[in-house]
Amino acid sequence: MINEKRGIMMRLVLLGGPGSGKGTQADVLKKKYNVIKLSTGDLLRQAIRDGSELGKQAKNYMDKGELVPDLVMVGILEEKTAEFEAKKQGYILDGFPRTVPQAEALLKMLDKQGVELTMTLLIDVPEEELVRRLSSRWTCRDCSYTTFKDSNGNPATCTQCGGELYQRDDDKKETIMNRLEVYSKNTRPLISFFKDKDLLEDVDGFGQLEEISARIFDLFDMKGIK
Ligand code: ADP
Ligand code: ZN
Repeated sequence: MINEKRGIMMRLVLLGGPGSGKGTQADVLKKKYNVIKLSTGDLLRQAIRDGSELGKQAKNYMDKGELVPDLVMVGILEEKTAEFEAKKQGYILDGFPRTVPQAEALLKMLDKQGVELTMTLLIDVPEEELVRRLSSRWTCRDCSYTTFKDSNGNPATCTQCGGELYQRDDDKKETIMNRLEVYSKNTRPLISFFKDKDLLEDVDGFGQLEEISARIFDLFDMKGIK
């Protein structure tokens, strides 16, 4: 039976370790399904650049690879999801929830809004591969597109917008290990949290970007998501 509350508006959570490619896949999905991508990492980095109160609060945590407190994040999400509902704008969450309390808060806020998640999609990548990817990852200052160093050295500019590429402070070796630990401890438990609620789907996140996108499209087709 089709669940009325799930409706046709996409409300998707992408789960996966740092470097799993969820941000990149979210960009692909955003275009294909005409939805908004809300990346909490991008939002916080923008706040830091703007020098806003939120940015000042978040910076210390982020530089260390620690999580920004749940209360702060939940407040932001409450505001954003309410905005999307008001505009009837489908959305993908990239980077939220990251802890069980955040997941509980998300389900509660959707419930209050009278709607349900379409699904939680796990992009499954082994930990060794995450380390390898993160330590060679470069990000565009202008559009947040990420790319990898090749054997010829770093690509000078972003292939998407021509912006300048840089290595994120938290993509440096010391921080990577901490982020993976934080992921294992805080975020990995979300897999069984959502599985228990019958909200989890997964795709193999190993391979080329296009292959992984194709796996997601197939899954969505199978679920009747257009
Ligand atoms: P990653 O590639 O590690 O997934 P993100 O860009 O999603 O990177 O996040 C970068 C940092 O921003 C995190 O390490 C964390 O400090 C902070 N952050 C982003 N989303 C959240 C969240 N939902 N809860 C707490 N902290 C967050
Ligand atoms: Zn760019």
